[in-house]
Amino acid sequence: MDIEAFRKAGYKAIDDICDYYYSLQEKSVVSNVKPGYLAELVPSEPPVKGEPFQNIANDYQKLIVPGLTHWQHPSFFAYYPTACTFEGMLGDLYASSASNPGFNWYASPACTELEVIVMDWAAKLLGLGPAFWNSSGVGGGCIQSTASDAALIAIVAARSLYQRTHPDVELDKLVIYTTTQTHSLGLKAGLILGLQVRALEVTSGDKFGLRGETLRKALEADTKAGKHPFILVATVGTTSSGAVDNLAEIKTVAVKYPSLWIHVDAAWAGVAMVCPEYREQCYLQDINDIAHSFCTNFHKWGLVNFDASTLWVRDRKYLTEALDVTPPFLRTAEGDAGRVIDYRNWHLALGRKFRSLKFWFVIRSYGIEGFQKYIRQSISLNESFAEKISQSKHLEHVTPPSFALSVFRLVPKLDSQRVFTLDELNGLNKQYYARISSRKDIALTQTVLNGVSCIRLAVGAAQTTKEHIEKASALLNEEAEEALKVWLETSSSGQSPN
Ligand SMILES: *Cc1c(COP(=O)(O)O)cnc(C)c1O
Repeated sequence: MDIEAFRKAGYKAIDDICDYYYSLQEKSVVSNVKPGYLAELVPSEPPVKGEPFQNIANDYQKLIVPGLTHWQHPSFFAYYPTACTFEGMLGDLYASSASNPGFNWYASPACTELEVIVMDWAAKLLGLGPAFWNSSGVGGGCIQSTASDAALIAIVAARSLYQRTHPDVELDKLVIYTTTQTHSLGLKAGLILGLQVRALEVTSGDKFGLRGETLRKALEADTKAGKHPFILVATVGTTSSGAVDNLAEIKTVAVKYPSLWIHVDAAWAGVAMVCPEYREQCYLQDINDIAHSFCTNFHKWGLVNFDASTLWVRDRKYLTEALDVTPPFLRTAEGDAGRVIDYRNWHLALGRKFRSLKFWFVIRSYGIEGFQKYIRQSISLNESFAEKISQSKHLEHVTPPSFALSVFRLVPKLDSQRVFTLDELNGLNKQYYARISSRKDIALTQTVLNGVSCIRLAVGAAQTTKEHIEKASALLNEEAEEALKVWLETSSSGQSPN
């Protein structure tokens, strides 16, 4: 493709993308394809002769789009929102047009310098204190691909710091603390690093958030047993139910264990801190007081297209002392003089995408007010959904709504006043979810909270309005009635309800 052909194909591509967004509402949310559908449509060998680009672009529409789950669809309520703004897309497009691996300042000064600036903007957007700003010269932030990478890096940095301060401790005595509600990133980091992971218990009474007392008891018991808990992965807004670990209580415990690193994973909910009214619920003050590292994904609820995970640390040396490997060919005068950040020492890979450009585009285009409006809109939509649940005959919340997430289940209220066992309710809710998940016009996910099967509804697609919420709750009520009817029929005829 030459420059003029690119100009033409590029205009056409933008037109196609606009049409996609205009037609999004009419599409089914979930794809209808069966596993292996694409191998039947695409040749198993790459073409010998190059093909005209228009054919390729046509095949994208014909073969790929039908196999997409439309995360930007207004009736997509599964998992968590995935940011997708036009500013973000354009940022990616420009970044890709100046493709370079950006591993140090010299590789492309603008890439590093813009990241240093937008990470401070993002910190200020969320209310993270000056200790985390790049301009502090001590702490700082950098863009990672995912929260899982960010947590792994935090754990590697924490381990390295712990080993430097406790040189006699064997690696097999080190323990990573998570809770039973922590994202699988905690376990995965343990697997990768060959370290023990202990998941601390949380209760539904505490809305599945970690209490200080639980942490204190675990620290005392493990220390007594000769183990060395060296990091706690705390969560602000768990994926499953939006639980928030009690960082105020954790702080009072952590002061007595200064070598316990506190990593705060706020992958989904952290962006809510752009609104001052949610900062207390997110324990912002305590994060500013004690967190060694903090992560949130702007690519979830933060309007910046995937991948855009942000990681801040209180001391950048924690990262560089764990990750800096500088062979002679990577040495630069600016780096040696300490005048610039070489971000390759702040993450796992050498090369890195020019992701700060899309941050810059999005933050400038939306402004702080635009972010606040979007977050408030999602939360208010979830509040109206929560109201529908409380008015519903058979549906009820399993835990209070958290930010833009509701977790609920079907608990039948029958005239007979019949009481159901947990097993019965779990069986019924699995059937209920099977009905919902077989539909293509809406997407929700299920979860299990301390043995209770439930269903999650996460709001966040930019096009979702109150009408979509009303449609969703009507549909969920209908499916609940149907699931209950079928279940009562099968259980009264003596068959197993499962
Ligand atoms: C989504 C999520 C993650 C994982 O995010 P990745 O960026 O895909 O690794 C981790 N923690 C929480 C709380 C999440 O919601």
